[in-house]
Amino acid sequence: MARIYSTSKSTLALRNRKRFLLSQLKILPDFLRASLVERFSRCGKANCRCHHGGDKHGPFHYLTQCLAVGKINKFLLKTPSQQQSAQEGIEHYRQFQEQVEELSQINAELLRRGEPLSGE
Ligand SMILES: [Zn+2]
Repeated sequence: MARIYSTSKSTLALRNRKRFLLSQLKILPDFLRASLVERFSRCGKANCRCHHGGDKHGPFHYLTQCLAVGKINKFLLKTPSQQQSAQEGIEHYRQFQEQVEELSQINAELLRRGEPLSGE
């Protein structure tokens, strides 16, 4: 689901917004299309508190990446540095996606108005 951007502006305003978006768009080397999940779990020791009503172990941080329907890449992020890198990469990717989505909605509106999409 995409966020819906306002495209009810004047054609000039849409073109200005488009120029601004294009100037902001940047491919960053850490782009990561993924999600982070936190899990608490029980360990393998039968006599541990986690099997007797005590707190489970964790949180453990996992990265998940949906590659296709039913095909998910998932692994444990062991270090805080990995977790931080994942968070940043995901956020950068999300921002990029939003900018591209807004650009796409502006282009659709310009097309609807019979305006050219490339050039100024
Ligand atoms: Zn345990």
